Amino acid sequence: MPTSVKERPMLITLTGPSGTGKSAVISALLSQDPKLRRFVTATTRTPRPGEEHGRDYYFMERGEFEAGVAKGEFLEHNPNYNGNMYGTPRWEVERLFEEGCDVISDINAIGVRLFEAAMPKRIFKLLILPPNRERLEQRLTKRNPELADEGRARLQQLEADMDNLHNPSYVFTNPDMIGTTYGDYDVVLVNDVLEHTVAEVAKVITNERAKRGQ
Ligand code: 5GP
Repeated sequence: MPTSVKERPMLITLTGPSGTGKSAVISALLSQDPKLRRFVTATTRTPRPGEEHGRDYYFMERGEFEAGVAKGEFLEHNPNYNGNMYGTPRWEVERLFEEGCDVISDINAIGVRLFEAAMPKRIFKLLILPPNRERLEQRLTKRNPELADEGRARLQQLEADMDNLHNPSYVFTNPDMIGTTYGDYDVVLVNDVLEHTVAEVAKVITNERAKRGQ
């Protein structure tokens, strides 16, 4: 798509397998870029230890979420990811856009597709990948020992995708990236050293703002 039709504020999606460091990248970017805000999404899943309503997610009951969907209150939603619903409240993004901020969040591939249809001029799609299987395994298991079993299960599920991370014709299968290929994203990054990744994403965002020229 020609850059001339792209607009600001932009909606930046950061997609990637669990344990790749998406949240850490977003937190670091927010602390250094006053024009960037994280949009908080909604989910029906149970909060994990340390997660807060309104900061990490808007935690909702299924009935409340379904009623919101029926009323068209979500810009996009994913009705079933590991048995839970996830979605982006329209008012959350509109509020931040009105303040003139670019927005970013951690969104799975299904959401990226829906955003692309809903706001093709605003979306900017980033894919973040782990450097290799060993590093992903370390992050999924050691970072949070209580999640070790869940981490190993996720890793097994990711096996084929990990072997094909940089293969442009391979269609990803894990739920975070399902149905997309490397080429479906505007920028693909490998999160090896966090500070380097953050610097790279910051540069990519600066360049994209300049291209959009607003
Ligand atoms: P988790 O439950 O581990 O926080 O997130 C699971 C997945 O849901 C991640 O891939 C994350 O990117 C995705 N996700 C979080 N919020 C949303 C949302 O509002 N819409 C969509 N489509 N995906 C989301």
